[in-house]
Amino acid sequence: MREWESHVRKVTPYTPGEQPGSFPGMVKLNTNENPYPPAPGVRKALEELTPESFRLYPDPAASELVDALAEYYGKDRERFFVGVGSDDVIAMAFQTFFNSKEPILFPDISYSFYSVWAQLFGIPYRRPALDGEFRLVKEDYFGENGGIIFPNPNAPTGLYLELGAVEEILAHNPSSVVIVDEAYVDFAGPSAMELVDRYDNLLVVQTFSKSRSLAGLRIGFAYGQPQLIRYLNDVKYSFNSYTLNLPSLKLGAEALKDKAYFRETVEKIVATRERVKRELSSLGFHFPDSGANFIFAAHESCPAGELFQALRKEHIYVRYFDAPRIRNYLRITIGTDEEMNKLLSFLKAYLKR
Ligand SMILES: *Cc1c(COP(=O)(O)O)cnc(C)c1O
Repeated sequence: MREWESHVRKVTPYTPGEQPGSFPGMVKLNTNENPYPPAPGVRKALEELTPESFRLYPDPAASELVDALAEYYGKDRERFFVGVGSDDVIAMAFQTFFNSKEPILFPDISYSFYSVWAQLFGIPYRRPALDGEFRLVKEDYFGENGGIIFPNPNAPTGLYLELGAVEEILAHNPSSVVIVDEAYVDFAGPSAMELVDRYDNLLVVQTFSKSRSLAGLRIGFAYGQPQLIRYLNDVKYSFNSYTLNLPSLKLGAEALKDKAYFRETVEKIVATRERVKRELSSLGFHFPDSGANFIFAAHESCPAGELFQALRKEHIYVRYFDAPRIRNYLRITIGTDEEMNKLLSFLKAYLKR
């Protein structure tokens, strides 16, 4: 080790899903992107961007996007915070709200970025185990803690927790900030946004990466009472005033305008998901009942690691986590019907050998 290396902050980074270059015939079902293009208005807004507009800094308050969110949800603009994907929003929220000596809580099987941020920022954490069917045990979150975060629906299991249970967790935690990471909520049930009026310690985080087909633009937002949002903004302005770039602000605002297109593509994905559930069951797979745009499936006899490699050879990419309790599962993103048919016919043939 060189002398200066003793002063280096050493972390184990998050491992994002593989982004193989795209080529014809490939089926990419490994990072929960949306298989459909963004709303048609986004193309038009893109064509209106000029290189001259990039000469100036973007609006640090991100007003165009914040106003579009306020308008879309019919809520005050003071309740919204935007960031470079929900990853940026959540990282900022960790720094802002998780400053207790008590450990923060999140499930043992959950978004693997949470423990990475906790380690990076020196936040103590504890991970209560999901039950045998991967359900969150709400009582595990009733004791003393330094904050709470969980995805709803959970990732990578896909299970949606009813709002009644979310509210019970909130009711037991008046002295902690509770973050509900709703990256997939548009494919599931009602959002915890409706609880924000009653709980000033609730922060709901969502993203444009999945249901709005804009993973490449990096847009996420948080919704909470104005005092929480002010604290978040104070940290943001202490870190980087210009987080969202100009194209993301404009195109993100545009994407919110077309509600019909949004509903149509979300419904298509949900319909495909339900069909794929039936077909996977008949091939001998079992899985938690997903409310997300992916299915977390294990086969009755064929190990997931083997299936993962066999699929990869066929240029069908799914996600595999070699981790305790879940190493026999594949996380399969819902693509177009055509993509899912390719996956299903390969599995059918492979499992028959
Ligand atoms: C995808 C995902 C995110 C991050 O999404 P961004 O692309 O950064 O907006 C956050 N939480 C969960 C659970 C996710 O699956």
